[in-house]
This record gives sequence, structure tokens and C-alpha cells, in this order.
Amino acid sequence: MCGAATLSRMEQVFAPWRIDWVERDSSRDDIDECVFCELPEQDADRRNMIVARSEHAFVLLNNYPYNPGHVMVIPHRHTGDYRELNEAVLMDHARLKQRTFDALETAFSPDGFNTGLNLGSGAGGSIDDHLHTHVVPRWEGDTNFMATVSDTKVIVEALEDTYERLHDAFGQQNGTTDTGPETAVLID
Ligand SMILES: [Zn+2]
Repeated sequence: MCGAATLSRMEQVFAPWRIDWVERDSSRDDIDECVFCELPEQDADRRNMIVARSEHAFVLLNNYPYNPGHVMVIPHRHTGDYRELNEAVLMDHARLKQRTFDALETAFSPDGFNTGLNLGSGAGGSIDDHLHTHVVPRWEGDTNFMATVSDTKVIVEALEDTYERLHDAFGQQNGTTDTGPETAVLID
């Protein structure tokens, strides 16, 4: 990692998008090709940190959160090209983003959000063949959580806490079904 002092303001703005998903457990060998295709197929939502699922998309906690509550909203469709999403998937993905803002607001009361996509290998993301929208809660005067807290155990505990809070928040929304703490909240 670069020292924070060497980063320009522009780079800091884009830092949340740099790392999409990092294995916390290096002994894990059950991901062969595309993590965003394989995680939702594993029937292990809690372990995989998938907190909500709609018809065509799902919400995944980022293992490398810029801030607590940093998630990605990901269509199941394996493509890196936003223009390939059909109308049903676009609408479902957009509605899931709306619900994600609501859930994050309920769970964390942020002052704002950064949200966006990295499209193409030149855009700075680490996974460019399966598109995903980052949603990062922001607070006035916040600093990069990962840079502040370097203790892995603390980060894992924070992820567990984030999962529970967001799971509760999605479960409280109208038009959702909470099937228990081990599975993602289902969006009708
Ligand atoms: Zn994929």
C-alpha cells in the first residue's frame, strides 16, 4: 500500500474502488473462476457475507471495506459490460441499490454515500469481468477504516457486526422475507 500522504486527493476519492473482494481465509480453495458467480451459488450466504438477494442481483459485503457498511450490489449475469444488461436486470439491480441505501441508512446513519462502477481494466478495479456497484457509506470527516484499523481480527468482527445490522435492516423493509440469520434476506 502507498502511504496515505503520497496519495493525491483524486486518488483518495477513488481508493474505495481499488479492491473489490479479498479472501480473508487464504486456506479457501473453493473459488475457481469468478468469485461473483460462485459465491451466490454456494448456499453459504452468512459465511460468504451475502446479505440480501433480489431476483437478478445480490448484495455482498466487501471483505476489504473502505468504511463499515461498504457493500457491492452485483447482478448475477456474468458480464463486465453494463450495456449488456437487459431491462429486467437493470431495473432489478437499480431497485436493489435503492434498498441498499435504505438499509445502510437504517443500520449506520451515514452522512452520505459514494457509489459507482469500475468498467474495464483501465478503471482501477481488481475484478473487471463481472460488474458490481460499490456503495460506501460516508461520514463527515471519516478516514479509511482499513488504514485506521490494521488488526485483522477487529476487521472480521466489524464485518460480522455489519452483516447482522444490515441483515436486520433489510429484513425490516416492506416486501422482504427474512429466512433466518444464515441466509440472505430475500427481496420480493
Ligand atoms: Zn461472474
